[in-house]
Amino acid sequence: MALFDGQKAFEHVRAQVELGPRPPGSIALARLRAYIGEYLGALGWKVEEQPFEAVTPNGKIAMVNLVARYPPGEFPGQGSILLGAHADTKVFDFEFVGANDGGSGVACLLELGRVVPQLDLWRPTVLAFFDGEEAQVAWGRGDGLYGSRHLVGSWWSERRLADLVAVVILDIVGDRQLRVTRDLHSTSWLQDLAWEVAWQQGVGEIFEGPLEWIEDDHLPFLVGKVASLVLIGFGHDDQGGYFPPYWHTPEDTLDKISPLSLEQVGRVVEGALARLQGSLPREHSGA
Ligand SMILES: [Zn+2]
Repeated sequence: MALFDGQKAFEHVRAQVELGPRPPGSIALARLRAYIGEYLGALGWKVEEQPFEAVTPNGKIAMVNLVARYPPGEFPGQGSILLGAHADTKVFDFEFVGANDGGSGVACLLELGRVVPQLDLWRPTVLAFFDGEEAQVAWGRGDGLYGSRHLVGSWWSERRLADLVAVVILDIVGDRQLRVTRDLHSTSWLQDLAWEVAWQQGVGEIFEGPLEWIEDDHLPFLVGKVASLVLIGFGHDDQGGYFPPYWHTPEDTLDKISPLSLEQVGRVVEGALARLQGSLPREHSGA
């Protein structure tokens, strides 16, 4: 029986929205990290901040990733599975609280932080809350994905990246008309596994969103040859998919978020985590 509780996740979205806009370097984002650290620490997770300096089109910005591991031990740990989401919200000249874009992924990770210690998992679980996923000026050409690129780079240079066997990124998963995109960058065996769990749990239709090439925090892990999947509710209306009309507008607010959608996605991740405890295929792209 699945443990993930959508209402509990929803309360974590509310807490983030109440902090206001959470761009890199802001006090609100530091407060969010404190909230995450306190919550997960009390549940027995080892929590660590990873500060770094990002070179952006707006100059150098001090950023901080937050990583947590259960059971406590060295990061990430042999055979571990990483679940990730971006904690930052995009910088705008209007009030942008990012309930769905930013808030929903973090909220799911926090609720999974409550669930994971209750599951009998032998693989370590790592939760990664990335800073600087959003572009400072314009997406692409090195603007965006600052936190995930930094984490992958540092674990790569320390020869720890290969300890990860799978990565699942959550982003924009709170809409009440959620349709999860089938991302074409994601590792196929991992995507198939998650989609199979979704159908078994009776929510397969939600996972039949449009095919898209999604650029998100899974990309640096794919470059590092780690099997990676993004779960994102994002697509084109004209392809039968769903594009939240309030995306990157002042309307990305708490009222757009459905506890049920959070629960449906969260339970698929919970089920996938259990399935990933067995032996796993290894993909080598050779690129
Ligand atoms: Zn965004």
